[in-house]
Amino acid sequence: MKWDRDFAPTVLPWNQIFDRVKVICKENQLREFYFKLIHRIVATKKELTLYGITDNICFYCGEPDSVLHTFQNCSTTTSFRNRLLNWFNEMHNTSISPANYELLFGMPCGKDNNNLKKLNFCLLFANYYLHYHKANERNLDWVEFITKVNYRLRIENEVSGSLLWCFFAFSVLLMLFKGIRKVCYISKLIATID
Ligand SMILES: [Zn+2]
Repeated sequence: MKWDRDFAPTVLPWNQIFDRVKVICKENQLREFYFKLIHRIVATKKELTLYGITDNICFYCGEPDSVLHTFQNCSTTTSFRNRLLNWFNEMHNTSISPANYELLFGMPCGKDNNNLKKLNFCLLFANYYLHYHKANERNLDWVEFITKVNYRLRIENEVSGSLLWCFFAFSVLLMLFKGIRKVCYISKLIATID
């Protein structure tokens, strides 16, 4: 992978990164974007220039554009993500400081580490937001971003909550069904004895 060359000498934990595709979020569009980012198939001006569609200049800083520039080297990206990390750490009373590659692909986290799960989602959405706005030559809007990320975090939580509720309701129904079957069986047994 080209990312290995870009982040050398760090050895990227690809198994963890690929496993994260399934759990990083529930929204298909964002999951697809994460997958594309891993495989570096996100179009920037560098790729569009190959087809003569546009110039090869970053809309934000005027430097030559590329996937690495957009997600790693652009000064706008760096300051936007720093702002996101400060906001997140302040909100959650944490001092999480991801490595460079973790800003792109998320951090390792167990099932119960809600803060890291949330941060991974926020980082993914920030990368998506940056990419989308840059592709459409729109300026980044911090207030808009925070509103959107909070809204999406709520949806992610509600989806997991409703899934849990469905599982609970299904278990109760199953217990009831088993109970009814037992009652029927006992009644039949009594009828036979009679
Ligand atoms: Zn730039």
